[in-house]
Amino acid sequence: MKLIDLHCDTAYKMYVSKDEEISLEKNNLKVSVEKLLKVDSLAQFFAIFYELENVSYDYNKLYQKYMEILQRIKLEIARSSDISLVSSYDEIIKNNKISGILTIEDGGIISGDMGRLDKLYNEGIRLITLTWNHPNCIGYPSTNFIYQNIGLTEFGREVVRRLNKMGVIIDVSHLSDMGFYDVVEISTKPFVASHSNSRALCSNGRNLKDDMIKIIANKGGVIGINLYPPFLNMNGTVTLEKIVEHIKHIRNIGGIDVLSIGTDFDGFNSDEYNMPINDIGEMNKLSDYLENVGFTYDEIEKIFYKNALRVFLQA
Ligand SMILES: [Zn+2]
Repeated sequence: MKLIDLHCDTAYKMYVSKDEEISLEKNNLKVSVEKLLKVDSLAQFFAIFYELENVSYDYNKLYQKYMEILQRIKLEIARSSDISLVSSYDEIIKNNKISGILTIEDGGIISGDMGRLDKLYNEGIRLITLTWNHPNCIGYPSTNFIYQNIGLTEFGREVVRRLNKMGVIIDVSHLSDMGFYDVVEISTKPFVASHSNSRALCSNGRNLKDDMIKIIANKGGVIGINLYPPFLNMNGTVTLEKIVEHIKHIRNIGGIDVLSIGTDFDGFNSDEYNMPINDIGEMNKLSDYLENVGFTYDEIEKIFYKNALRVFLQA
């Protein structure tokens, strides 16, 4: 089964790795070209992400780090003969290799400078996760219930309009609830929650309430199912059955066309958990399981890549 994964943090993991031999082609991370080939990946989204250790978030400093990580992942993609960087729907369709798509996790790095959006676009960025876990120039994160009630900043509202015009996909994962509703009001294009699950099944602010699921569906967007155990189950354990519970719930609320995959691989330490799917190369375990519990081939295709492809086309 072909696959589009909307979110992984492999670029970050490679960048911070002490192993100088590490490559995207072959590695012991959760995503590599070797593993992507195994699962017949159509496209892999790579998030550019970096976390500063100090509490005061200096987004200008962070921007430089992001630029370094961006160049590194581009180099790694260029080095492989089985994956190439793409920036449009047509390129994915025509590509006879795996397509690599670059994203920014934490739009705060533009630091109130619209010009940086153009720069990121020119570097090939085609999806921006508006916030991460800190307040930024665009809006507030979902990490704290106080932030949940604060919407986008004036500048953030302008960013949404600009991203619509540029054809960059807006990602509301990590965004406050109020920020979410602002995006709904402003965005004229479908938007995504690249790596979020159902809050009704797992009560975490990073997950989506039922009305949000319905809204994303009505707008034509998608939700990427996140494999991070604490976002799947309150007790932090996870099974294929649990993942499929979220898939079924989201299907019941928003329909099959809203479902997608956003593994979050390499964004958390999987060794701490008993993972039913160990890396991207094992995603067929999920498609097999879905088939066994009665999902049709058409439905699985939509979840695995067709819905995400549709959003990329509309953006
Ligand atoms: Zn994330």
